[in-house]
Amino acid sequence: MNYQELVNTVVPSVNLFLTSECNMGCKFCFAPSGHAQALPQDETERIINECHDVGIEKITFVGGEPLLYPHLYDVVHFDHLDAKWFLK
Ligand code: SF4
Repeated sequence: MNYQELVNTVVPSVNLFLTSECNMGCKFCFAPSGHAQALPQDETERIINECHDVGIEKITFVGGEPLLYPHLYDVVHFDHLDAKWFLK
């Protein structure tokens, strides 16, 4: 496999930081503690749609603890978004 063939096997992907909130307290963590921040739902949906538009095939939700993101349920139900490709 040459370099170009190897590059062509890479799935275009992004890590999307939804929130800095976390229920743990790892000393090595880079997520800010004490003042948790989270993306507004509309901003998250805009980013997801833009990722779709530029050909991103995989989005990994990260944080903090992404399961603490208050809009997680809404943004993983994509009926109202253009990015229905996630469900494939
Ligand atoms: S985000 Fe991960 S590394 Fe940071 S405190 Fe939470 S569990 Fe630990």
